[in-house]
Amino acid sequence: MFIDSHAHIDFPDFDDDRAELLERAQQAGVECIVNPGSDLESCRRARALATQHEQVYHAVGLHPHYAKDVDDGQWGEFERLARESGPVAIGETGLDYHYDFSPRDAQQRLFRRQVRLTLDLDMPIIIHCRNAYDDCLRILDEEAPGAQWRGVMHCFTGGADDARAFLERGFFLSFAGMITFKKANDLRETAAAVPVDRLLLETDSPYLAPQPVRGKRNEPANVVHIAGVLAGIYGLQAEDVARITSVNTRMLFGIGKTGGTGSIVYKIRDSLYVNLTNRCSNRCVFCRREIDPMVKGHWLKLDAEPDAEEIIEAIGDPTRHAEVTFCGYGEPTQRLDVLKQVAAYLKERGGRDRLNTNGHADLINGRPVARELAGLVDEVSVSLNTADSDQYAEICRPGHGAHAHEAVISFIRDARRHLPKVTVTALDYPGVNLDACKRLAEELGVEYRQRKYNEVG
Ligand code: SF4
Repeated sequence: MFIDSHAHIDFPDFDDDRAELLERAQQAGVECIVNPGSDLESCRRARALATQHEQVYHAVGLHPHYAKDVDDGQWGEFERLARESGPVAIGETGLDYHYDFSPRDAQQRLFRRQVRLTLDLDMPIIIHCRNAYDDCLRILDEEAPGAQWRGVMHCFTGGADDARAFLERGFFLSFAGMITFKKANDLRETAAAVPVDRLLLETDSPYLAPQPVRGKRNEPANVVHIAGVLAGIYGLQAEDVARITSVNTRMLFGIGKTGGTGSIVYKIRDSLYVNLTNRCSNRCVFCRREIDPMVKGHWLKLDAEPDAEEIIEAIGDPTRHAEVTFCGYGEPTQRLDVLKQVAAYLKERGGRDRLNTNGHADLINGRPVARELAGLVDEVSVSLNTADSDQYAEICRPGHGAHAHEAVISFIRDARRHLPKVTVTALDYPGVNLDACKRLAEELGVEYRQRKYNEVG
């Protein structure tokens, strides 16, 4: 299900068919719409819509286009709405030096006022910024030096450096229909560098209709076209983009429920992942499972470890998936018996399976394990992470101490003897000698794959 994180469905453009528009959005899988205000009237309309329709949330903001018209009386009324009408955010606010409909000093004053209000109310902020990134960053930094913001740069059209600056300050970036335009290669390149857990989807209706409906009045149902293009950029499926961006939007605006019970199995692209445990024999410095047990929109923190029967029931027919992978935010071989029972079921039912492991199976279970996996696992992928044992101890912080790296290598050798395919992976974490990792994989006679730091799943 999608969330359109920015659509002006309160605008008069939709007066004749708003109910049908909401119906079409629902049919297209859009579960929620965030309607930001742009002037006092639209803030009031957005609030009314949020009161009438469960799937609509409102934000209140004064757009930079109208900065020249906002007097103290209007500001007072706006502030009252922000404090009392229950918005999910302040916005849209910001700076627009492309159109310059209001003098820049008036835009800056109004933006700064809304930034201060955001800080005072401890709310998220929705920022509109066109050709004004330096001033936007300067005002944010002056008002809250070093802050990590809860906010979104809506309809982002900046370059890679601009994106990095806002990401560093905690912002989400949201892409609208422009990303689907044929000539928008630069914007697609920028989007490719944005981590998916910082990505939002929006239509900015009624503006910016995406391909293939470009030029027409835009509406929330069209968010599917934008998701399709982003899925292509990230090598995901549209349903992955929907899930991930919906979770991101919920977390940013505090809409609905995130978290909850950890998923026993979860789907990314056309593969199914099995989450056996939260436990791990490493404490890698880059591991995010303690602070953010969310992978590609799936909550993985298990309340209790599932038994084999529960897992098998959750998997169902394994041939529906290209592959079933034992993975999750923990080390699967911590539960070797359950892993073997589930793997036996997968093989019996004609499924293909893979084990993603830190290579500690022998240490954890006190015996050589690879031979026990023969006939049960088609492929094993081992996180070697570094070719150097001291650096391994430093980065992966293994509970088994200084010999862990040696044990990983021994497991890889054994796995190569007993299993059809073994891949060793390393992470482009600062200081890791990736060439040495690749050479070590070659010496061990196994395949090598480089993983991206900060990208899971
Ligand atoms: S091996 Fe994986 S799950 Fe374990 S601490 Fe390292 S990154 Fe986290």
